[in-house]
Amino acid sequence: MTTKDQIGETAQSAGNGPALGALPRAELDRLLAGAAPFDAQMCALARRIWAHPELGYQEHRTAADMAEVLTAQGFDVTRGVAGLPTAFVASWRQGDGPDVPAVGLLAEMDALPGFSQSAAPYPDPLPGQDVGHACGHHLFGAAAIGAAVGLARWLEATGTPGEVRVYGTPAEEGGAGKVYMARAGLFDDLAIALHWHPDDVNRVWQSRSLASIGGRILFHGRTAHAAQAPEAGRSALHGVEAFHHMASLMRETVPQGTHIHYIVARGGVAPNVIPDLAESRIGVRHPDPAVAQEVFERLEQAARGAAMGTGTRAEIRRLGAVHSILPNDVVGRVMLANMAALPPIRWDDADHAFAARIQASMDRPPALDQAFELGPYVFGSQGAFSSDVGDVSWLVPCGALGTATWVPGTRPHTWQAVAAGAHPIADKGMQLAARALMATGAAFLHAPELIAQARAELEAARGPDYRYRPMVADGPPPFDLTTPA
Ligand SMILES: [Zn+2]
Repeated sequence: MTTKDQIGETAQSAGNGPALGALPRAELDRLLAGAAPFDAQMCALARRIWAHPELGYQEHRTAADMAEVLTAQGFDVTRGVAGLPTAFVASWRQGDGPDVPAVGLLAEMDALPGFSQSAAPYPDPLPGQDVGHACGHHLFGAAAIGAAVGLARWLEATGTPGEVRVYGTPAEEGGAGKVYMARAGLFDDLAIALHWHPDDVNRVWQSRSLASIGGRILFHGRTAHAAQAPEAGRSALHGVEAFHHMASLMRETVPQGTHIHYIVARGGVAPNVIPDLAESRIGVRHPDPAVAQEVFERLEQAARGAAMGTGTRAEIRRLGAVHSILPNDVVGRVMLANMAALPPIRWDDADHAFAARIQASMDRPPALDQAFELGPYVFGSQGAFSSDVGDVSWLVPCGALGTATWVPGTRPHTWQAVAAGAHPIADKGMQLAARALMATGAAFLHAPELIAQARAELEAARGPDYRYRPMVADGPPPFDLTTPA
């Protein structure tokens, strides 16, 4: 899961398409003026999170910091929601009754292992630190909070009825935190959900992703001396090998577009000892969640068959499992209209000097212009990535944008992303993201008929009698087994 990697993705709608629902100029000006005083706090929050990166489901310090900032801004914060110690929901509301629409802002916060890096524009690991914000989730979370604060101030100033909610969503990198929050019903009464991702371009980005299910299969056998008493042994590795062979054969008889991945995570300790324990990690992806589910179930059967044939026992555990993202064109077009009304990012000489040094580490980097322009509207193209935003998008009309927080040419999950994450370039991109999110949220609350339009599109896309079924296993998440994917 989870890099916002757009390999093989093409924009279906080129050019800035039919924008919809721009907030009136006077309201936009009022919104931006109200939000400006929080800018410095938003940037400081992002920098603190960057300096203390935490892995998925271990974001204790980060979640506490975010909750504290929101509480100080007048939000009601509930921590530890959905059985996840580092998840939270923060709410600010004006108006009574069930008809007050709620706009949700998703706030990711987790970092990645293996990305120790300072803010220098060259590879520079930090001693004693293995974790780093290589996917920019420190900016993701801080901008969501900045957008929420701006939106709350605007509701207050205008007397508009509405609720703003920040969802602190842990463990995006392989832990599928949002899925457990969706399973707990936390998104059910939302009108609209908005999110963004750090990027090297500025764009509204309504792509499909791949549904993805991961699993761990432990094969238990019986150990024995491989030459003296081979008949006493049952090789757990043979269980894995037979299973992987079946998984490979299965690729011929699965629906088009299915990806099956596997690795041997453990295969024994020495060739003269028949292994009593071996581990396979598997993953299945497909654009349709129902297909991913069906293929995963066939793989579970194959694992049982492999165990039977090798005299071993298969212990199957489902890890992260996410739906594909269901893009919403109404939300995308409202985002586009409101993002287009904002002033572009501007860099000073120091920013350009930093960018030149980062680009010196790249082969044929793109022109810097893309950091200062609004790129083409992307709708409905198929991306080769997975994200736990997927589950949210089947429940609530959802919209995504990206801003240039990274030097053009930077990919997620690289040292260049970590380095730029603590630079003023990141602050400028994050500010644009926060403004675009708050303007989009305000546009929906200002003209609630847009909410109904977005909802109608979601319902048509899901089909009649749709029921959301989370694909994760029952019970709490496998806190001990989440791995970046
Ligand atoms: Zn990410």
